[in-house]
Amino acid sequence: MPCLPKTDPIKLAKLDPILLRAKIDVPVITSFGIISERTSLLIRAEDIDGAVGWGEVFGNFPTHGAENRKHILEDYIAILALSKSWKSPLEAFDTITAKTHVLTLQSGEPGPFAQSIAGLDIALWDLAARRVNMPLWKFLGGKCNYISTYASGLNPTGFENIVEQKITEGYNAFKIKVGFCREGDLQSLSKIRKLIGDRRLMIDVNQGWDLATARENWIAYSEHNLDWIEEPLAADSPLSEWKDLALQPGAPIAAGENLLGDEQFNNYINSQCFGFLQPDMCKWGGFSKTLPLARRSLSHGITYCPHFLAGPIGLLASAHSLAAAGGDGLLEIDANFNPIRENLVEGLPSIKNGIMTLNDASGLGIYPDPKFIKKYAVT
Ligand SMILES: [Mg+2]
Repeated sequence: MPCLPKTDPIKLAKLDPILLRAKIDVPVITSFGIISERTSLLIRAEDIDGAVGWGEVFGNFPTHGAENRKHILEDYIAILALSKSWKSPLEAFDTITAKTHVLTLQSGEPGPFAQSIAGLDIALWDLAARRVNMPLWKFLGGKCNYISTYASGLNPTGFENIVEQKITEGYNAFKIKVGFCREGDLQSLSKIRKLIGDRRLMIDVNQGWDLATARENWIAYSEHNLDWIEEPLAADSPLSEWKDLALQPGAPIAAGENLLGDEQFNNYINSQCFGFLQPDMCKWGGFSKTLPLARRSLSHGITYCPHFLAGPIGLLASAHSLAAAGGDGLLEIDANFNPIRENLVEGLPSIKNGIMTLNDASGLGIYPDPKFIKKYAVT
């Protein structure tokens, strides 16, 4: 059975990237740097019959990089996307990826191009599902509209109020950032473990350790009863280092948000080092590549947990991807205040007992509110 459903041809009439930016009072602190504002680069795709789909492009860090992706969309991707009728979003993905290959080499920017094409792919699938009036999770072959979630992106300090608020909202799994100093990390872990009781807890090192540090820390951190340790090493560390860590007693390894392309993901999957695979569909792949990848990882016994930390379109796309793929993975939901995520759309599903339930509205099930697009738009 093909992994992706058949779609009617798509002929676009318009493709508009829309860059949103909002100020925040409390920055997001990671081991690689500080995110001191929130951006969301959206794509609005409209076909010749007036059907519309929405996508989102990675632009979290550094936030000024979002402008670059917007220009790439305007100057290169839109021209290609509008140039012909596509048999499927996958055909658009593969063709535009091939046609921009030399540009990615010339500019030294494979990431920004991949991210722009990923956002386009999400918009095309949303459009295709809306045209047949089906929710994306069902259109893409999902059997169940319930997905588990976790509250993510907790800063290493000052997280107490957010955790309490998220417990009240219905969350029962949490992920906190580590990879700073060992003593401070372990204090944070003790503190959050006390706060959340026996609820699920994960940590994200954000590529902050080398192998020696990871080996030194593995057992002490794992003793806080962790579901996973995320990106302990740089994403491009040799597989021999990942294998070494995978043999350490303690929590399993999660990673994948910083991989690009089938080859890199397949190397991870085939290595048998990872318990959880976390592709970010707004960074590479959209639905066309992420869904087959997710199903491939599940068939290898690796849990698919989408990575995402920006606006509501990408969050919902990740939710639909997880529901379509199946398995018992968790949807990453940023616990930090993000005005764009909170305000841009109505009807973002709430969380009950850690579960998000997707509705039967067509496509992603939401539309950005023009009032808030105007409020946050960077012009
Ligand atoms: Mg991460």
